[in-house]
Amino acid sequence: MTIDTQKIIEIDRQNVFHASTHLKQHAHGESPARIITGAQGIRIQDSLGNQFIDGFAGLYCVNIGYGRNEMAEAIYEQAKQLAYYHTYVGHTTEGMATLSERIVTLAGQGMSKVYYGMSGSDANETQLKLVWYYNNILGRKEKKKVISRDRGYHGSSIASGSMTGLPVFHAHFDLPLERIKHTVAPVYYRRPDDAMSELEFSRYCAQKLEEMILAEGPDTVAAMIGEPVLGTGGIVPPPQGYWAEIRKVLDKYDILLIADEVVCGFGRLGVDFGSQYYEMKPDLITVAKGLTSAYQPLSGVIVGERVWQVLEQGTDTYGAIGHGYTYSGHPMGIAAAIANLDIIERENLTGNARDTGAYLQQRMQQTFAEHPLVGEVRGIGLLAALEFSSDRSKRQHFDPNLKVGPMVSAACLEEGLIARAMPHGDILGFAPPLVVTRGEVDDIVARAERAVNKVTDKLISSGAW
Ligand code: PMP
Repeated sequence: MTIDTQKIIEIDRQNVFHASTHLKQHAHGESPARIITGAQGIRIQDSLGNQFIDGFAGLYCVNIGYGRNEMAEAIYEQAKQLAYYHTYVGHTTEGMATLSERIVTLAGQGMSKVYYGMSGSDANETQLKLVWYYNNILGRKEKKKVISRDRGYHGSSIASGSMTGLPVFHAHFDLPLERIKHTVAPVYYRRPDDAMSELEFSRYCAQKLEEMILAEGPDTVAAMIGEPVLGTGGIVPPPQGYWAEIRKVLDKYDILLIADEVVCGFGRLGVDFGSQYYEMKPDLITVAKGLTSAYQPLSGVIVGERVWQVLEQGTDTYGAIGHGYTYSGHPMGIAAAIANLDIIERENLTGNARDTGAYLQQRMQQTFAEHPLVGEVRGIGLLAALEFSSDRSKRQHFDPNLKVGPMVSAACLEEGLIARAMPHGDILGFAPPLVVTRGEVDDIVARAERAVNKVTDKLISSGAW
C-alpha cells in the first residue's frame, strides 16, 4: 500500500499536536516530518521507502525488536477472549496474577506487590502518592519531600516532570513542585575537581545529598528517586560505589529509595534490573518500556515488603486506597508483557545484552576514544553514549547554538542510522534492541563513525571549530 506522503504530512501538520516538537515550526511546515510505515527486527522504514537501523529501539523500549508475530498473536488472542475488565475491588485475571508473581521474583530485593499503570510518568506519579501515603500512615505529616537528581528523567506529568531534572521540563510549566528537590548528578566526566577518583566523587555526591537533607530537615525528606544509570540526561553509568554511598545516607535518615528502572529494567544493561547490579537496595521500583517492549503501553510500580507492610496498616485508618486507573492491569498490556518476558527468557536476550553489549562498548571505545570530536565514550550493556567536546583535554562544551549533538544525529540519519541526540548537552545516545547481533553492532558503529567524521569535517571547513 502506498501512501501519499505529502498529503498525509499536510493533514498531520494541520491536526496533530506532537510530543517534544517545535510546535510552530511543525504546524507551519518549517521542520522535517516523517511517516513511519513499518518495522522488522532492528530496522524501520518510512513512507518514501527509506530504511534505517533503529539504534535507539524507538525510545529505548522495543527491546525484542519489531514485527514479532508471537506478540501480535498474544495480543489478538487476548482481545478475543477478554479485551478489558477493571481491577478495582479485587478483580483480577490469570495473566495479571501470574505476571505479577514473575515480576516480583525477577526483581528480587525484597519486592512484594505490583501496581500497574500505562506509562513511566503515571507510575512515578503513583510512587510519589505512595510515599506520601506511607508517611501519613506513619503519622509523619511533614516527611513528604522527594529528592531527585539534576539530569534525572522520570517523566513529564506534573509530579514526574518535577522529579525530572532537566530545565526544559520545568521553567515554562511552573515546575518543579515545591516538595521536589534536586541534588547533584553523578556524572564523573563533570566532576568538580580533576584529581578526584571515582570513589571520591561518589562520596562527594553522597555528601551533597546529606547536606541537602540536613538543610531541608531530615524529618521533611521522604524519598529519593534515581535511575540506576542516568538515561535521558546523557546515558551515564554511576561512578564506582555511588549507590552504596547514597544508600548509606538514606538509611541514616530513614528515607526511601525509588529505583526508576523504566529504561534499565528487563535486560538492557545485561542484567535483569540495574538496581541489582548496582546494589541500590531500593524500597520501590518503577518499570515500563522493556516490560512489554512497547507492543502495548504498560508500566508498573513494584512495592517492597517494608513499604507494603505500612500500606496495609493504612487500610485500618483510611479504608480502600483512593488511587486507581481505569486501565490499571489492562489485559492487553498484561498479555503483551507475558509474551515479551517469554521471548526475553527463551532467547536469553538479557545474556545477549551482556555479551553483545560488551562488544558494543569495546567497538565504541576502539572507534571513538581518541576521536578529536569526542570527549567521552561511555555506557554499559546495550546502552552507550558519545559526548562531544570542543576541547577534549579540558572537557569543554561546544557553543550550544552550534547544536553539535543534533548535527551528528542528523548525519547518522543520512547514513541510515537512528542515534538520538539527547536533550541535555551534545550527547549522542545508542540503545539498540536487545536482539542486535555483533555484525549489526559493527554496522551501527561504522555508520556512526562516518557521521561523526562528516560533522568534524563540516565544523572545521565552516570555521565553526
Ligand atoms: N522514567 C524513565 C527513566 C524514563 O526514561 C522515562 C521515559 N523516557 C520515563 C520515566 C517516563 O516514561 P513515559 O514516557 O512512558 O511516561
